[in-house]
Amino acid sequence: MIIAVDGPAAAGKGTIARALARHYGYHFLDTGSLYRMVGLAALRAGGAPIASSTAIAAARKLDPQDFADAELRNEQVGGAASVVAAIPEVRAALLELQRSFARKSPGAVLDGRDIGTVVCPDADAKLFITARAEVRARRRQTELGAADYEAVLADIRARDERDSRRTAAPLLAAPDAVTLDTSEMDIAAAIAAAVRAVEARRTGF
Ligand code: C5P
Repeated sequence: MIIAVDGPAAAGKGTIARALARHYGYHFLDTGSLYRMVGLAALRAGGAPIASSTAIAAARKLDPQDFADAELRNEQVGGAASVVAAIPEVRAALLELQRSFARKSPGAVLDGRDIGTVVCPDADAKLFITARAEVRARRRQTELGAADYEAVLADIRARDERDSRRTAAPLLAAPDAVTLDTSEMDIAAAIAAAVRAVEARRTGF
């Protein structure tokens, strides 16, 4: 059983995907962390703008041990992740790793931007989690303890734009995905709606 959870930054997909994995006893992969690891490696290598060759080399020798890096979650790394994520060779280097994770027994939940469209087009259930940009910026501001709401909103908009416009696996709801807009939902309501949507797919109702 594979559950694909896609959507833009700070829409709540990580929280929802983790909760689904817990609910069903499945494995969970935050695929954004893979792109963040590549983005962080490219930032550390220096050079602006980021060199494609540096990002491709980092993607090809990705070490999942680095998942624990404290810097992974900051917004600068998120921005770098969305730059390297537009490079087709970076995406190709990360594809098999994600697909083999998805095959884990008894099931897996993957969250990202292209899980339902490219990584696991045959996923058993697909969710597309979204929310208004202003709501997402407010949530991200709280999560990061950031002072400047307008700056966070600008970052989110820039990332949405880059993720949606790129030609390699753009952010897109799969035609067979259930879209959940969490703008007016708290976490508990969003998780409950996601479980209902997955149950409807599993049982055919
Ligand atoms: O989800 P998160 O904000 O951690 O993702 C960071 C960036 O990685 C995204 O803005 C996106 O550009 C990229 N990404 C992607 N495909 C995925 C997951 C993340 O392109 N499956």
